[in-house]
Amino acid sequence: MRLFTTIAGLRSAIDRQRQDRTIGLFPTMGALHSGHSLAIERAVKENDIVVVSIFVNPLQFGPNEDLDQYPRQLETDCQLCERLGVKLVFAPTTAELYEHKPTVAVVPPTQMISVLCGQFRAGHFEGVATIVTKLLNIVQPTTAYFGEKDAQQLAIVRRLIADLNIPVEIKAIPIVREASGLAYSSRNQYLTPEEKQRALILSRSLQEAQKFFESGVRDALELIGIVKQKLTRESQVKVQYVELVHPDTLKPLEKIEEVGLLAIACFVGSTRLIDNVILRSRAPIIAIDGPAGAGKSTVTRRIARNLDLLYLDTGAMYRAVTWLVMGSEISLSDEPTIAELVSKAKIELIPDDSWEFPTSVKINGEDVTRAIRSPQVTANVSAIAAMVSVRQQLVKQQQRWGDRGGVVVEGRDIGTNVFPDAELKIYLTASVGERAKRRAKEFKDTQQQEIDIEQLKKEIQQRDDRDSKRQIAPLKKASDAIEINTDGLTIEEVVQQVISLYEQKFSIQ
Ligand code: AMP
Repeated sequence: MRLFTTIAGLRSAIDRQRQDRTIGLFPTMGALHSGHSLAIERAVKENDIVVVSIFVNPLQFGPNEDLDQYPRQLETDCQLCERLGVKLVFAPTTAELYEHKPTVAVVPPTQMISVLCGQFRAGHFEGVATIVTKLLNIVQPTTAYFGEKDAQQLAIVRRLIADLNIPVEIKAIPIVREASGLAYSSRNQYLTPEEKQRALILSRSLQEAQKFFESGVRDALELIGIVKQKLTRESQVKVQYVELVHPDTLKPLEKIEEVGLLAIACFVGSTRLIDNVILRSRAPIIAIDGPAGAGKSTVTRRIARNLDLLYLDTGAMYRAVTWLVMGSEISLSDEPTIAELVSKAKIELIPDDSWEFPTSVKINGEDVTRAIRSPQVTANVSAIAAMVSVRQQLVKQQQRWGDRGGVVVEGRDIGTNVFPDAELKIYLTASVGERAKRRAKEFKDTQQQEIDIEQLKKEIQQRDDRDSKRQIAPLKKASDAIEINTDGLTIEEVVQQVISLYEQKFSIQ
């Protein structure tokens, strides 16, 4: 592991390694804990190079806040990073980052900084937005990781990169909690043992509201009231705010339609703690990933039909775009023009009763359900799907469908990348031998010819290796996915297993 304290040193180290490697950035203020560890582990798993920055940013502290006391423990932090496989830690001095005083500042929209913490911490989010922009420009990562614990920060950062067109993907890390429910925070170090005990009321009050939400309560005043009532039972805990807003726009909600962020800030003694919960009322998403030939697409179609979910046929979306490109004058190698075409295209997926095509597809108003299955489209779709710009746009569209939920999706990175918060994640796999046997049988049934099983096995193994190493959408099993090995199972048995997992999860009798 190498530690850099200057921008020049860090940039030179990154530039020497960058080439076409992926870079993950995790910005922190240090005093690393288990919440940080989860983000670091994910970054290490998902990127070739990881930079953890450790910087207690004075711009985001108000005059009466804890800038001076904030815990600083660079040596132990570096040891943790080293243990977790981080190769680059960036811990600059204040002078290194803020050469000019006052500095140019990045100012998020007023609407986003006048709610939640923003109304009590003047200048805080300008400070956050400024340092995040600087770090993104210094490191130029492919992906940057931010915790849902700081939900307002996460929403502002997402808006910042969209509005300033910063080419980075933002990934959210769920809140990591102690066994007691208390969210890990560097500021927990300030708490006495008694205060730590009292602080449990924060997560408990949110859990209480979640229970009511799950039993159907959607009204903001009611949900906020439940939290406040619980918090006030702990007389030593002083509530600063309890608010319900939309997690993306941060606009206050009167009622949860699809999703709400219920967030609180309290003083426990002199320590200010925050916590939140996302309340989502969308219909569930089932994500099915796995290697080619494990039966994903057949299983997914049947599940969609049985559970009355939309089969979000991502393959059909790539096919529709390929069909569009082929019908235009654009060369299949002209990625910039194709990117423009895709960005203007309107793709519709409509559930259909047909067994053959359970999802009909329209692009720019034209029904292409059958046309996209032509051999010409089949021959060209993988080239189009390999284009980063096409993929990014289509993943965004898929995620918009996901906002409403009620979909089942299959692929290689659905549970890890497209819908990391899917309610049910399945990893469908089968041994190489079994997949070879199935393919040989299929070949015999359709072509009336025998095929060399050993050769097939070799090809399948090679394809698996390629799929797990590919730059775009590599095959990955999500840590919370349930693995089903389909060796020796019929399609119907696999479908029944997934359906019963779904029913258990949502307690449907
Ligand atoms: P900080 O060092 O407190 O600025 O946090 C650095 C990053 O870690 C931020 O993106 C935080 O949201 C995230 N983070 C802090 N605490 C937690 C936690 N308990 N669970 C998940 N992420 C966290």
